[in-house]
Amino acid sequence: MKIKEILHNGKLNLSLEVFPPKEWLKIDDTLRVVDQMALLQPSFISVTYGAAGGTKAYTKKIAGHIQNKCKVTALAHLTCVGASRAQAEELLNALHQDSVTNILALRGDVPTDNPYPKDFLHASDLVRFIKQRGDFCVGGACYPEGHPEAPSLERDMDMLKVKEESGVDFFTTQMFFDNNVFYCFLNKLYQKQINTPVIAGIMPITAASQIKRVMNLSGTAVPPRFRAIVEKFGDDPAAMQQAGIAYATEQIIDLYANGVQNVHVYTMNKPQVSSALKANLSEILK
Ligand code: FAD
Repeated sequence: MKIKEILHNGKLNLSLEVFPPKEWLKIDDTLRVVDQMALLQPSFISVTYGAAGGTKAYTKKIAGHIQNKCKVTALAHLTCVGASRAQAEELLNALHQDSVTNILALRGDVPTDNPYPKDFLHASDLVRFIKQRGDFCVGGACYPEGHPEAPSLERDMDMLKVKEESGVDFFTTQMFFDNNVFYCFLNKLYQKQINTPVIAGIMPITAASQIKRVMNLSGTAVPPRFRAIVEKFGDDPAAMQQAGIAYATEQIIDLYANGVQNVHVYTMNKPQVSSALKANLSEILK
């Protein structure tokens, strides 16, 4: 099924994310994680793409497994910077052959080594390229607090308009821990007349070390309320996990109560976290 159709079904849609292993030897472990996630009947499962495409065969394998073995809609991430058109074409053909027709089109991190193919400079170039091939539903990334490289949120939003005009079918946000940041972002999208559906990205933080990594990588702000939770429970793994899941549950309930129906959960390959979250929302998801 195309994700753009799922987003308009009128229900609370929870989707999950999985990342590929670093080595092929561990692929079966990841497929087992995917099988457990599939039992939770998410709206779709996305598979990330390793930096610089180093594990692209893994992304393809896992996405095909989700789509064909688990019978759950798969979303394959694909980054384009440093890739040639021929390489992108080859991967898209292979995904299409596996009936994977939902792609999250990303730029990826710019390589530091030179020279590298400059066929795609921005995610919108990849969106256009995929859209020309037809039969793909294409998503793009967006950043409620602005992309770290953008000179301002205003300028980043202008670039988001370009991404919309390139034909993107939906956006998924970078994770956020303060729903008000997301509501302000939705308001700015409205002002810019960006009407593409937006899936809200929520990450249940289940270990104190995770929050430091997240802040370093994405620059996402951590509100004082959440900081207090990490300070109080950070040294007690079981308590931290419970508090992190409770915080994410509360975020999702607030989003849904305020009209946001599509939530993507950055599950970090932890089916037990997804399962606890789903149990917390059991009546709401009915
Ligand atoms: P772009 O949309 O190209 O934006 C990058 C920067 O360029 C922004 O500052 C933007 O304002 C600016 N810009 C955009 N278009 C133009 C233009 N036409 N002219 C001038 N400036 C422009 N990374 C991975 O390696 N693998 C993954 O699987 C992965 N999944 C992700 C999933 C989500 C939901 C998100 C939010 C991010 C993900 N990333 C992933 C990280 C992403 O690759 C990085 O954030 C990357 O730095 C930017 O990617 P982008 O697609 O947002 O790029």
